[in-house]
Amino acid sequence: MMKKAKRIAIFDTTLRDGEQAPGCSMTLDEKIMVAQQLERLGVDVIEAGFPIASPGDFESVRAICKVVKEPVVAGLARCVKVDIDRAGEAIAGAAKGRIHVFLATSKIHRQHKLKMDRKEVLKRAVEGVKMALSYTADVEFSAEDAARTEPDFLREVVEAVIEAGATTVNVPDSVGYAVPEQYGEMVAMLMSEVGNVARAVISVHCHNDLGMAVANSLAAVRAGARQVECTVNGLGERAGNCALEEVVMALKTRADLYGVETGIRTQQIMNASRLVSSVTGIHVPPNKAVVGGNAFAHEAGIHQDGVLKEKTTYEIMRPQDIGLERNTLVMGKHSGRHAFRQRLEELGIHLDDERLDHAFDQFKRLADKKKDIYDEDIEALVREEVEAVPETFKLIGFHVTSGVGVTPTATVTVEVAGEGVKTDAAIGDGPIDAVCRAVDRITGIPCQLQDYAIRAITVGKDAMGEVTLEIRSNGRRERARAAKTDIIEASAVAYVSAVNRLYQWISAGKPKGEKPHGM
Ligand SMILES: [Zn+2]
Repeated sequence: MMKKAKRIAIFDTTLRDGEQAPGCSMTLDEKIMVAQQLERLGVDVIEAGFPIASPGDFESVRAICKVVKEPVVAGLARCVKVDIDRAGEAIAGAAKGRIHVFLATSKIHRQHKLKMDRKEVLKRAVEGVKMALSYTADVEFSAEDAARTEPDFLREVVEAVIEAGATTVNVPDSVGYAVPEQYGEMVAMLMSEVGNVARAVISVHCHNDLGMAVANSLAAVRAGARQVECTVNGLGERAGNCALEEVVMALKTRADLYGVETGIRTQQIMNASRLVSSVTGIHVPPNKAVVGGNAFAHEAGIHQDGVLKEKTTYEIMRPQDIGLERNTLVMGKHSGRHAFRQRLEELGIHLDDERLDHAFDQFKRLADKKKDIYDEDIEALVREEVEAVPETFKLIGFHVTSGVGVTPTATVTVEVAGEGVKTDAAIGDGPIDAVCRAVDRITGIPCQLQDYAIRAITVGKDAMGEVTLEIRSNGRRERARAAKTDIIEASAVAYVSAVNRLYQWISAGKPKGEKPHGM
């Protein structure tokens, strides 16, 4: 008889830990779209936010609880009553809700951050778990900085929180300090020395500061961990988190070694990766494992001959397993609304009627300028629909002059909500700089352009140029992107879109003080 493979739960924290990274904030609509894609992907748990952190976080957790049915929705909380009450309220409407409480256990955190001794930490951890249990039976406890915690104390904390009723106990490497051998040993120690360990799932959460988040997570699985916390594209603070697509494909590709399985529908990986990249504006590098643009590019170079003769000579995964399709020519000028909608659905994009109409309109306009339209073009169009925030400032038109021996000058016309159409002009170091300065004169919000990148979405001279940029103002960073066949237009649209996001934040009354930070 075949032994049934052990199931590893995939806990996705793209919307909490990932979103916490600078410049990665998402709007409510964007978070809902990502959550729906995570459900299609088949994750077991979606960590939707940190409800006490801000009203926006609270609302998004609540909204996600309403729209997803299959996955557990988790809200993060420190081990204090206000946090736990807020998290409890946020997940109240979930089909399956979890409260995830955390408290640091390492000596360095106890002494310098918490100013608590071991006894106090232990007591607070147990109290936190018990408070959370008054809202839901599904309670996860995280021993923040577990990887640097003294083994005897970690064992004591894990045993105590399981005794208190925690159903999942997470032992994160919060600072990315661990290496696989040591991290695996830590989990093995807990599995063998914690008396009541069978009553809870041991979970891991690894940061990638030394590039070992995935390797550490895999070592933990080998040692008995049954939940892996991760993010799409490895999004997250500093060097990011364990990448969902990498850990999942490693477990699948090397099932011979690990003998475990996940519930992930891997054909949805590419859609998830693209969506997260779109809404955050963080591009995936071409050499990124599994989802990078070159990850399956065997066409080039010396491997070609081998792959043509027999794919498995070099190919350890099949592109279709992650839902990767080539630049397929899909549509042109004469494609109808129905075909357009159908293609979107196949790409995992679901728009309401109003947005669909608008996107279709944009598609028709693009088809007039560009002969062949590829999936990537359609995705770029739709991203703009999804990313849209209220247009306080709407670009109406612009004119630039630039060239050799002339000062770049831009005249820009913007419609300002409630104030009408305004036109202003500015000079700059280049035409894009001039456009941005003219926009600033109209909006009255001076912004610095922090990051600016342009790339061709598809091939050919008529390809759309996609501009991704980040602006900074008042200490706040906002990203936006736009794709057009004219790169100056794309820059202007992306810039105005980032300013609209910034304005949303300013008008929401810039949250005061430091936002509490999750682990
Ligand atoms: Zn983290």
